[in-house]
Amino acid sequence: MKFGTKAIHAGVAPDPSTGAIMTPIFQTSTYVQKSPGDHLGYEYSRTHNPTRTALQQSLAALENGRHGICFSSGLGAIDSVIKLFQPGDEIISTNDLYGGTYRLFTKVFERYGIKFHFVSMADPEALSAWVTPRTKMVWVETPTNPMMNIIDLKGMASFAKKHNLLLAVDNTFASPYLQNPLDLGADIVMHSVTKYLGGHSDVVMGALVVNDDDLASRLVFLQNACGATPGPQDCFLVLRGIKTLHLRMERHCQNGKAIAHFLRQHPKVAQVYWPGFEDHPNHLVAKEQMRDFGGMISFTLKGNRLSDTKKVMENLHLFSLAESLGGVESLCGHPASMTHASIPKEEREKVGLVDSLIRLSVGVEDVQDLMLDLDEALKKI
Ligand SMILES: *Cc1c(COP(=O)(O)O)cnc(C)c1O
Repeated sequence: MKFGTKAIHAGVAPDPSTGAIMTPIFQTSTYVQKSPGDHLGYEYSRTHNPTRTALQQSLAALENGRHGICFSSGLGAIDSVIKLFQPGDEIISTNDLYGGTYRLFTKVFERYGIKFHFVSMADPEALSAWVTPRTKMVWVETPTNPMMNIIDLKGMASFAKKHNLLLAVDNTFASPYLQNPLDLGADIVMHSVTKYLGGHSDVVMGALVVNDDDLASRLVFLQNACGATPGPQDCFLVLRGIKTLHLRMERHCQNGKAIAHFLRQHPKVAQVYWPGFEDHPNHLVAKEQMRDFGGMISFTLKGNRLSDTKKVMENLHLFSLAESLGGVESLCGHPASMTHASIPKEEREKVGLVDSLIRLSVGVEDVQDLMLDLDEALKKI
């Protein structure tokens, strides 16, 4: 089945009791049993809920995986992945990482004795230097947030296999429409469903997709044992959002391309980070592993002045200044003070995340209006 057909049909079937074409919101905490242990597969909604089951199957299908597992947030999903490990275990992670993930790793899990190495993943071979007998997993995000670096997933998968490590990929920025890490050799795909999958800025949710049955059952155990599960109403909203994922992503990509080129020729703009440019350092890898280049763009201003940056952001009207990304409406963010404020300034600047960097999540509005909005705001400096 092709992607657009899966987005609409995978995991969902008309409700057998009524024929309702939409999966009902099973707003129930418990399920009646005929006799102790004699039930219809559902006992308690932390463990299983039919609306969540439909969504988990849909997500698995979109990532070409066997098992989808949903959580109450993206960080809830990552939390369960790290709980697969023991004190003393080591994880190699990208250094250009979502701020909340960095905070979870360093402020929570380091206290429980798990060790993280934050390194550049430009060259998979150079990573061997970080492998010890306690290394268990590689954690990758691509495209990275907010610098739009691309990590070679096939290269990372062969590195991980060689050293007998799990490879986990945060696929939030690409969405399953643009990139399917399991097909490239990853073991775990993670999504902040909050972003493109939900797509309408109305739900916070996370998900994991895996192929391996044993890994899936360990993660399902943690999902139930730790309890960060989403409610049925949120699962319904995401199922609804997914039905237009392919249409939205097509437009996000078209608009993203137009805006990236528009910014690049703008006299007030210093640098534009977008993997679709032929001179992006990893353009060829992006072309190989992604179907298109997405709607996430970062750029800096000439002079690199924080005051100019603030002025531009205050004068954008269609791009709302807000955290998050991936919704139908365009957003702009200031990583240094918002999403990445929990990363020390020296660490941020090492990867190019300077104070004048603005991150755009290009929405699906009419692109002419978006360009006009940017142009008006840039005229103010
Ligand atoms: C938002 C985000 C997360 C965290 O997800 P939540 O749903 O906010 O918990 C993780 N990784 C990336 C790349 C994100 O953008």
